[in-house]
This record gives sequence, C-alpha cells and structure tokens, in this order.
Amino acid sequence: MIKFFNTLSGKLEPFQPLNPGKVKLYTCGPTVYDHAHIGNFRAYIFEDLLKRFLLFMGYEVTQVMNITDVDDKTIKGAQAEGIKLEDYTKKYIESFFEDIEILNINKADYYPRATEHIPDMVKMIKGLLKKGFAYRKNGSIYFRIGKFPNYGLLSKMDLTELKPGQRTEADEYEKESAQDFALWKDKKEGEPFWETEIGSGRPGWHIECSVMSSKYLGQTFDIHCGGVDNIFPHHENEIAQSEAYSGKKFVNYWLHCRHLIVEGEKMSKSKGNQYTLRELLKKKCDPLALRFLLLATHYRKMLNFTFEGLRQAEASLQRIKDFIYELENRKFKMEENKDIPTLIEKTRKKFIEGLSNDLNFSVSLTALFEMIRRVNTLIAKEKLGTKNAKELISLTYSFDKVLAVLPQKEEKTLSVEIEEKIKIREKARAEKNYEQADKIRQELLELGVVLEDTKNGVRWKIKKKK
Ligand SMILES: [Zn+2]
Repeated sequence: MIKFFNTLSGKLEPFQPLNPGKVKLYTCGPTVYDHAHIGNFRAYIFEDLLKRFLLFMGYEVTQVMNITDVDDKTIKGAQAEGIKLEDYTKKYIESFFEDIEILNINKADYYPRATEHIPDMVKMIKGLLKKGFAYRKNGSIYFRIGKFPNYGLLSKMDLTELKPGQRTEADEYEKESAQDFALWKDKKEGEPFWETEIGSGRPGWHIECSVMSSKYLGQTFDIHCGGVDNIFPHHENEIAQSEAYSGKKFVNYWLHCRHLIVEGEKMSKSKGNQYTLRELLKKKCDPLALRFLLLATHYRKMLNFTFEGLRQAEASLQRIKDFIYELENRKFKMEENKDIPTLIEKTRKKFIEGLSNDLNFSVSLTALFEMIRRVNTLIAKEKLGTKNAKELISLTYSFDKVLAVLPQKEEKTLSVEIEEKIKIREKARAEKNYEQADKIRQELLELGVVLEDTKNGVRWKIKKKK
C-alpha cells in the first residue's frame, strides 16, 4: 500500500486515486521572471520522484504544470528591462525547459501558460461574482474569504488572524495578513492588460492554478504538489476559489516539500548562493549527481545542499555505474548462483517499501547499495553467473526508471548504417541536392533519429519514447 503525508489532514494517508490505476497530478510550475535555482529544482525533482514512482507502480499519470508568465514579478522584470512581457518571459521559459531536460525530469502532459488562459479565468471570476464569493472594488475584483468557512484549513491558520474585508493586491504576502485577495487587478499605467467582460486588467496569480488545473484534470483531482512556501497564501487561495466555484472538493492529497538551504545558510540572491543550474554546470557539477543529491533527502526534511554532498553524490552514482559496467563486461565462469533470485526479490521489495512509505527514498537507496555491495563481494569470489548478471542489470535499470541517473545506452551511439546515411545526406546538402537530403532526413525520422542542422554542422537526437 502506498502512503503519503497529506498536508490537508496533517496525517499519513493510504493513497487511493479517484479512478483506480489513474492519477491526476498538478504541480505548481515556474514563475518565469528569472532562471530557476536549486531551491526550485528541489521541488521539481521531488515531484518527478513522485511521478516516476507512480509510473513504476503501474499507474497512468496525467500531470499538469503551469507556467506563470504574468504576475507581479514578471511584470516588474519586463518593466525594468523596458521590454514587452512576452519577450521578457520567453528566455526564461526556454531555460526552464532546457534545465528540466538536463536534469532528466519527466515531462508533464500539459504546460499551460497563464496568458493563454485569460478567457477561462474570466469565466471562473464571473462565476465567483455571481455566487457572491467575489466583489468589485475600484476596478479590481477580490475574493471574499469571510464567505468561505474552510479558509485556513490547509495552512492550519488561526482564524482569529483572518482579516476579512481588508484587501491585498499583492500576489504574495505574509501569513499574518490573511486578507481578501485579488482575483482580477484593474488596468494600471505601464502594465499589460486584457480587455474582457469583467473589465480591463489582468489576473491575480492564484486564479490561474485553479483554472488551469480544473481545465485539464477536472474539478476534483488526486494530487497537488508544491513547496511549503506555496501552502499560504497560494494553495489556500486555490482551494477557496475552486471549491467556492464548483461546490466540490478540489484536491484529495496535498504534498509539499520543504526548503533547501545552501552550506547551512538560507538561500538568497544577495548571498550569491541561489545557484542556477547554469552556474553549477560552470562549476563542473554533474547534473545527474545533482539530481541524485536532491532525490536522496526525504522531501519533508530540510535539505542542506553542499559541494561536499555533491561530491558524495557523484561517488554514489559512480558506484552504480561501475556495478553495471562490471556486470556487462566481465566474463563470468558460472551460469547461475541460486541465491541471487532471492536477493533480487528482497531488494525489489525493499526498494518499493521505502518509496511506498511517503517516498522514503533513502530506504530504497540503502537496499540498492546493500545489494551492490553483496554482489561485488560475490563477483570477487567468482560466485556470480552470467544469468545472474543479466537479471541484476535489468533490475538496476528498472530502478533507474525512478532514479533516472544512468546513461541511456541506445541514445549515446548510432548504428553504422545510420551514421552512413547522415554522411550521405551531408554530402547531398553540400552539393545542394536538397531533395535527396530531405528524403534521407525523412527516412531517419522514421527510424526515430531527429536531425538538426546547425551552424556547426549536423546534430542528431533520438526521439524519446515516453
Ligand atoms: Zn500554483
């Protein structure tokens, strides 16, 4: 049985999706006003672990991750550079997708953008106005938290601190100032705005997640994730808007990961320790070791990122790679050690047990490394067989569906035949025989090889099988 700690109930709960075998998952995505930093990656990697584990267990997962491309921060950034909002957010959207690719983060099924869902937001706000959960004031529209009795349940807020009737326009604010929040902000000088039925202006931050989650996952869905800093006000407000609008329960399981600190200190831009992936890559960090490091600490514990920890993660990763290398390349003298199937079964069981218990991955990793240690001893004593090696390789690669740190062999090299085709196409292009070049490109595409012509010559990619 899989159990998750549900922030809403404050308890460990058995996981049961609404539809057996199918999980609908919403994960709050990036606000694209800057490059993502390791604190953001901690959340994305935790969510990736959750998703990959559910897939590993045979669930079908539909994941939505929003992209906040209009809010206080993005508008401020665009104003500071004196460019259009979309030109400003574009480069950060691109860098976000590059980063998640480098970190082997499984792609969501949908990445809806706030600016592309304004009519949907208008529709929900109209509904909230109609039901009396929202009101107009000076051209803006606010959510009336006093009318929603469950306000504060997720963040366990002391209701005496609520200040209904007082309003805030800010997208983010302190817990102490729980107030009626903006669903729609009146048009302001120098800010982007949309002409809509409810007036000229732009949406608040919180409404987008309520709208885009229900649009792609339905009004009630299984899991909603984020970092603990999203609990209030963002997720509290999402619940209020969604449940007031639909009259249904919004989300069954709320999972939140804790903060990340760097070398024992709070992360901040002024300290220069808010590392982006780019900065870490410049420091010769292996991105998959970073992935491993972020995976290894339980998501509800504070994670202390250190460069020493990163080196240890690299060493752990190397142990797994060496293990696979040994199994693949050594000539074994025997066919089978009859004890190995039991070891494999035990390891698989522990691996699943760890993750099933609120994603306690360190238990799973201990099982994996304990198995590696034992098998290495057997190899040294020449007590491992060819059949065993094959089974151990396939077990380790099956674990890697969750870990996602091992090189995918088939993507590293091309067959001689395909390489030959690429050469012929290069030649055809050089001779301006574009017809033949295109024909070969198409043939390769059918074989799953995508060609990209760049200034520095042709590059190839294997189309990812999902
Ligand atoms: Zn959100």
